Amino acid sequence: MSITVESLYEKLKNITVDSSVCTYTFERCKRLFPFIESIARLKKERNALILAHSYVHPDIIYGAADHCGDSYGLARQAKNAEADIIVFPAVRFMAETAKILNPSKTVIDPNPNGGCSLADSIDAGTVWKLKEQYPDHTFVCYINTTAAVKAACDVCVTSSNVYKIIERIPSRKIYFLPDRLMGQNIQNYLREKKIDKELLFYHGTCYVHEQFEPEQVDYLKDRHPALKVLAHPECKPEVVAKADAVFSTTGMIDYVQAHGNAETPLLLLTECGIASRLQAENSTLKLVGSCSLCRYMRSNSLEMIYNALKDPSPSQIIEIDPSVLKGAQACIDAMFKYAE
Ligand code: SF4
Repeated sequence: MSITVESLYEKLKNITVDSSVCTYTFERCKRLFPFIESIARLKKERNALILAHSYVHPDIIYGAADHCGDSYGLARQAKNAEADIIVFPAVRFMAETAKILNPSKTVIDPNPNGGCSLADSIDAGTVWKLKEQYPDHTFVCYINTTAAVKAACDVCVTSSNVYKIIERIPSRKIYFLPDRLMGQNIQNYLREKKIDKELLFYHGTCYVHEQFEPEQVDYLKDRHPALKVLAHPECKPEVVAKADAVFSTTGMIDYVQAHGNAETPLLLLTECGIASRLQAENSTLKLVGSCSLCRYMRSNSLEMIYNALKDPSPSQIIEIDPSVLKGAQACIDAMFKYAE
């Protein structure tokens, strides 16, 4: 079904959790609409597919994206994509992952200068040095890393499969990078489950998830006694300890779609895009808490996607050195092997 200004507004008008950043008036939808129409035309002409992360602006998700999800879900979509061009409004490492999984396609990153505090915290040279220092460890990297870092590691993980894969890897000695907080959460999980593994980890953090504090959770629990708290594994362990459940972004969406209702207040400790999507789908949900936005994801726009589809600049087209591509493919293939 094609989108109209009216249908776009119907979808976006209930999104209030992002405050002014995400308040969609009919006028705003009207202003955005010419880009949506032009993107749809260019997609057809150029046989392109748009994969958007859940953290980008909702107008991209509901106005332009063919698929929306977390890094694991989008990696699967990219792997199976048949279109000639994949446009990936998210952050650089995700567009790189699409290229690694489907190298014959042209992959376009509309926002090539958008970084990520986790992916930018470590480079491949540092990983090679760490490997010399810890030759007996299996190196596990979070998907939020560059292609060159993945090529230097043994197994990749995402927030939806990290615990399962760490458990399944036969090696007892594991070096996890780059997320320190996720590393601490994995350590606690291994301890709780009495799994005998030695886990070392690097010191990167996601600045969005690091902002959540246990006191905020206590405060909201006092105000809403029936509150259900869902935390992302990039949050601090003290925050995770106060949560009712720990989920990847897709896991949170699935949980809320299955169990959310107008009576139970929910606190989602992750980027606000998840709450926005859930509100757009179900305006009766009771979502509480302040909003935390990722400035990197939010620097994508419909205009950027339009320009990148029309005439991409060299920096928007993902190119990966063949030896790095091969190493990164092996690292991601290992993830699919352990995750299945
Ligand atoms: S939310 Fe955190 S991990 Fe995700 S892109 Fe933003 S900074 Fe990186």
